[in-house]
Amino acid sequence: MSRLIATRRLVSKIFIPRLATRAFCTDAPEKLNDVPSGSHFNKEPEGDEHFMNDVPQHDIAIVGGGMVGMALACSLASMPLTKHLSIAIIDSNPALSNGPVIKKDDPPDPRVSTVTPSTISLFKDIGAWEHVEQHRHAYFDKMQVWDYTGFGYTKYNARDADKDVLGCVVENKVLHKSLLSCLQNKDFNSTIYPTRLSSLSLPTRSVSSAGASVSSTSSKNLANLAKLDLSDGTNLYAKLVVGADGSKSRVRELAGIKTTGWNYSQSAVICTVEHPTENFCAWQRFLPAGPIALLPIGDNFSNIVWTMSPKDASNHKIMNEVDFVKAVNHALDSGYGPRPESRVFGGDVLSSFFRPDVTSSVHERFEPPPKVVRLVSDRMAFPLSLMHANQYASKRVVLIGDAAHTVHPLAGQGVNMGYGDVSSLSNVIADGVAVGSDIGEVTLLKKYEAERKTANIAMMAVLDGFQKAYSVDFGPINILRAAAFNGANVFAPLKRNIISYASGERRLPFLS
Ligand SMILES: Cc1cc2nc3c(=O)[nH]c(=O)nc-3n(C[C@H](O)[C@H](O)[C@H](O)COP(=O)(O)OP(=O)(O)OC[C@H]3O[C@@H](n4cnc5c(N)ncnc54)[C@H](O)[C@@H]3O)c2cc1C
Repeated sequence: MSRLIATRRLVSKIFIPRLATRAFCTDAPEKLNDVPSGSHFNKEPEGDEHFMNDVPQHDIAIVGGGMVGMALACSLASMPLTKHLSIAIIDSNPALSNGPVIKKDDPPDPRVSTVTPSTISLFKDIGAWEHVEQHRHAYFDKMQVWDYTGFGYTKYNARDADKDVLGCVVENKVLHKSLLSCLQNKDFNSTIYPTRLSSLSLPTRSVSSAGASVSSTSSKNLANLAKLDLSDGTNLYAKLVVGADGSKSRVRELAGIKTTGWNYSQSAVICTVEHPTENFCAWQRFLPAGPIALLPIGDNFSNIVWTMSPKDASNHKIMNEVDFVKAVNHALDSGYGPRPESRVFGGDVLSSFFRPDVTSSVHERFEPPPKVVRLVSDRMAFPLSLMHANQYASKRVVLIGDAAHTVHPLAGQGVNMGYGDVSSLSNVIADGVAVGSDIGEVTLLKKYEAERKTANIAMMAVLDGFQKAYSVDFGPINILRAAAFNGANVFAPLKRNIISYASGERRLPFLS
């Protein structure tokens, strides 16, 4: 049985389409009045039984209503040129139908994202940030990054780059729910299909009238649209299919788009922990097996993202809580090597060389991170890999978010890259609508690909370089790393550049 949920202005309609109920439900004809206004149903006159051909048509079918797919829907809903488009969102995740339950007093969920100032701006522009602010979230204006060898550290302060914050840590379920609430508040043609994409038929020929609204698409032109077969046995047509269906993207597979990448032979263990006082800083210490991060998430809670070998990750997931807390404090502070008090490889020498262009945080001393006293959530482990789609766009298909790229979480950039895709694709679609072109046309979609591929490849290269540089425990490399830490700490233009790149303000690192 298929259920559709129309999200137009707080109205959630659930109805049973004729195709699914014809054999079972005698009042099916009346039910047709419940067809949400966001979808257009095509009747192919040449069919023997026209009920069989009542197939919804949409301008855009977003496959995957995760954090990135939902952001695209909200972004399109908020732009004057695109808000009239008819959008289908296909995802069987129950959170889309029921909305995740977020209880204020529950400890934070271990799945969180560090969102950059650029992402916060996007959320403000589309009207979703006001919903985030109603739930737990933690802005941070300081970051301390250091190395287990004790040779170097870097402190970043938002005021080094004339900013108020470096970022904000938000639970993924809060980001998702905020986008859903935002969409429900808009006067927008969107329909949620609580099912999954199973197969996709893409057109092999071009028909010039595909630029017209889907409502005026004649049956002859259906052959020029993408046809999506859903796992509940229904199907729909769309001018553009957006693959926002994560790293194992079915859309990418069905469109025949290949990927490049590798596994890191590392897993990330994540959980929520408690400490005696509130934390306002993002801490990251590089250890021989990978970094451990302690990220503020409000009250006396922080989130741990700890990279290690898959075998160690399995052990750390099941060890008793007391031992786990001890292991976390050992990894964050007391174990592996000394605290970086010394300034042998930089510090005063470098700061006097670059004076007066040093940032205020160069004089801030190394601080030990808060001591963790309790584990307050489940521990989860995720295998880590780098993956990049060789193409982001082909005729009637485009990829965004993890469907197009996955990265190591060491700099918390994955979903931020996805939100960069959302901004770019919304603008490209709006440009296409403005000039009356077919929004599924590959020449238009390639503009999105060109813009985002450059930015994403640069970010992937930086993150992969970090991952490799910090996976080596070898004397000369350790010294170079320490010099890099201290150089970044004292050399103001470099530090500002890093902050601005990590904030999402600059598309390319260190080049402009
Ligand atoms: C340990 C860890 C920590 C991280 N920390 C950060 C961080 O701090 N900051 C940051 O920016 N990023 C971070 N990331 C990355 C971030 O979590 C991902 O980039 C983000 O979740 C990707 O979102 P998405 O919507 O593209 O994909 P997903 O979250 O994977 O969503 C895909 C959606 O598609 C749906 N779907 C799948 N297949 C189908 C189908 N066939 N039909 C219909 N629907 C389908 C799924 O149900 C799902 O809802 C982290 C990742 C990890 C592993």
